[in-house]
Amino acid sequence: MNSSKTNLLGLNLEELEDFLQDLGDKRFHGRQLFSWIYRKGARGFEEMTDLSRGLRDRLKKTATIEGIVEHRLMRSKLDGTEKFLWKLSDREMIESVLIPDEGRLTLCLSTQVGCPLGCQFCATANVGFRRNLTSGEIVSQLLKAQDRPLTNLVFMGMGEPLLNYDNLLKSIGIMVSDLGPNFGAKKITVSTVGIVPGIHRLAEEGLKLGLAISLNAPDDELRSEIMPVNGKYPLNELLSAANFYAEKTGRRITFEYVLIGGLNDSLECAKKLSRIIQGIPCKINLIRFNPHTSQAYQAPEEEKVTAFRDYLYPRAPAVTLRESKGRDILAACGQLRAAEDDYTA
Ligand code: SF4
Repeated sequence: MNSSKTNLLGLNLEELEDFLQDLGDKRFHGRQLFSWIYRKGARGFEEMTDLSRGLRDRLKKTATIEGIVEHRLMRSKLDGTEKFLWKLSDREMIESVLIPDEGRLTLCLSTQVGCPLGCQFCATANVGFRRNLTSGEIVSQLLKAQDRPLTNLVFMGMGEPLLNYDNLLKSIGIMVSDLGPNFGAKKITVSTVGIVPGIHRLAEEGLKLGLAISLNAPDDELRSEIMPVNGKYPLNELLSAANFYAEKTGRRITFEYVLIGGLNDSLECAKKLSRIIQGIPCKINLIRFNPHTSQAYQAPEEEKVTAFRDYLYPRAPAVTLRESKGRDILAACGQLRAAEDDYTA
């Protein structure tokens, strides 16, 4: 990256207007610049033909539009899931996943390089925490896939979105702008392991984003064992934050529950789970654990999965059972990145 120039990718409209004003130009050109970068996907200033020659030359001297670079693309032969591995300007790597499912095409985005939260069943946890993504790196993942007929966005890739709150919200602000990608806020879901203050803050943004909470255990003892974050934000606080979010936004919460063989897949767990979510407008997504080389956990047995689901519904308002997508390309959270580390080691 050319450090003497300002990277415009990731700046919101107001910041682009400020930048132009500092150059001695009119603020209103910011709308054109914004649209070129985020709607038309321009990567250079020469193609911005509705800006004057003088302004384009000044922009070339002072600014860049630098996004992430594709390092590898893998496509699942089983279900069409596509996984991108992106290289960042400091040579760190992140991933995004495109998931086709029943007429939808969902893009799963990363928000951090690695993750500090250490969930026991997650490959990203092994990477450790490197750094937060910038708003430009987050938006860039969408821009790179914008030629696809995307229907949904979910922040469920590497990292905990609510620990990179400001850059997350700035990038969402760009994504929903009608001058830019114009993605509907209701089609965007933020997935969290339960950063309670972040949930409260997000509830007050007035955005009506979807909220998914990665629950994975029905009591504090088991949850703390597999998700250390539970020590800081225990279940009663998390569930009350979930209720608050649902009340404030009118959106029902999605509880994600990864079924891990012999750990959290018993009927007893299903009973406890059905009790703790009572009264919260929600649906539960059950996901079969996708075993991978770096962890000791097992996939659940089929009979256990069926019994768990059948107990939960109709005791929970809605229950879906999802397959782990892209099993042949390591498409669960952080796994491609982890595999790449193995590969390059
Ligand atoms: S599951 Fe999510 S929050 Fe937990 S370690 Fe993995 S990336 Fe971090």
